[in-house]
Amino acid sequence: MSKQIIVIGAGIVGASLAYHLAAKGAHVTVLESGEIACGATGRSFAWINTSHGGPDPVAPLRAAAIAEHRRLESELPGLNIRWTGALSYGAGPFYAPSIYSAQILDLEPNLKHSPQRACFAADEGALDAVQATHALIAGAQAHGATLLTHTPVLGFQTLNGAVTGVSTATGNLIADIVVLAAGTAIAQLADQLNVTLPIDASPALLIRYTTQPHRINTIISSPQMEIRQDTDGTLLAAEDYIDDALYNRPHAIALRTAKAIEHELHGVVSIMPQMASVGLRPMPADRIPIIGYLPEFNSAYVCVMHPGVTLAAVVGRLVAEEIIDGASAAALEPCRPARFQSPAPPTPPPAPPIDRAGPIPPARQTPLPRSPARKNCSARRRQTSMPVPVLSPRTTPSTRQD
Ligand SMILES: Cc1cc2nc3c(=O)[nH]c(=O)nc-3n(C[C@H](O)[C@H](O)[C@H](O)COP(=O)(O)OP(=O)(O)OC[C@H]3O[C@@H](n4cnc5c(N)ncnc54)[C@H](O)[C@@H]3O)c2cc1C
Repeated sequence: MSKQIIVIGAGIVGASLAYHLAAKGAHVTVLESGEIACGATGRSFAWINTSHGGPDPVAPLRAAAIAEHRRLESELPGLNIRWTGALSYGAGPFYAPSIYSAQILDLEPNLKHSPQRACFAADEGALDAVQATHALIAGAQAHGATLLTHTPVLGFQTLNGAVTGVSTATGNLIADIVVLAAGTAIAQLADQLNVTLPIDASPALLIRYTTQPHRINTIISSPQMEIRQDTDGTLLAAEDYIDDALYNRPHAIALRTAKAIEHELHGVVSIMPQMASVGLRPMPADRIPIIGYLPEFNSAYVCVMHPGVTLAAVVGRLVAEEIIDGASAAALEPCRPARFQSPAPPTPPPAPPIDRAGPIPPARQTPLPRSPARKNCSARRRQTSMPVPVLSPRTTPSTRQD
């Protein structure tokens, strides 16, 4: 008999899970507290960016990301990925092949200050994350899935310690498996099951501009700007969130970034911010995706990661294979949620004879420390051509890993 599965959250991750699970024959119900893609997904720069510096426990997932998006694209034409390639220069290190001045200007003839050398990831691209999430949900529905929007999950139904469903304002729903794909809300949901999952809500800005079409062809990532342009001319920029000061509010950053773009590109004679808003990226505290059954539960599964757009296709397929076929992928092993569980406290040693000046007893094991919240890991830190207010802390290089 096919499994009844509830997916909590209709961002790109929940939508990909719903699609892949439904395609494998599961009876899927997606519960979304707002509209499709109303969370981080709706504010994503959505670059399918597979480069990563340093040791990478999920290198096999990243390495498969492009091929899996291409597979998905052939299954769901509405995904509409633009495979433009990505040009990166300035503060590296970068991991794509190098190209030089003439090739850079061939790709981007409107660059005013073309670097001598850049890295070009020719196989990377970007998508409209909202449109892609709708396409995935429609694909899931074509396989029989049900979507309930404006239906927040309030809690879980349990029986003898097992999760048997969820509760909503309009009633309870039963399921064989409940998948937590609710982005930054996962920590609070897991907490209701007494499972601690350290997930930061990491802010970053997405800005949309109207400007002349065809100013750029690729995704450009430099210390001055991180931009790409849609076919209709809309220019998108990703920027760091700095703080809540008036001169760092989204609109103020959008105006500064517009100046930087005008300074960097020929032919930008008008550039008007249409929208600038902060998205909260669900960021596991150790930066490694959290994917797998919750410790102590074999009917509650969690799936959260950064960068979620890049990894949604490959993770969706692997998770569906794990849940439906019982085929657990080696690539998901570093992602298991059990890594956050405190080890059982050591058995206390036998009490020593009382000696007030005696040795200090061994320290008790403590849970894994949370790494400090990072506020600037989506977009590069960059200097704009506008005078930057004195308090702006934009002095460090990018830590972006989208
Ligand atoms: C400015 C910016 C730039 C980015 N750039 C990139 C990039 O270039 N490449 C990349 O790969 N990633 C990028 N990201 C990150 C990427 O967008 C996220 O990793 C991804 O969208 C996360 O998807 P998600 O489905 O896990 O979460 P979300 O999109 O947040 O979806 C979670 C959903 O769960 C719902 N929900 C929450 N609680 C409940 C509940 N109790 N009941 C029911 N539903 C609930 C929410 O309403 C939401 O719709 C960027 C993000 C931002 C903000």
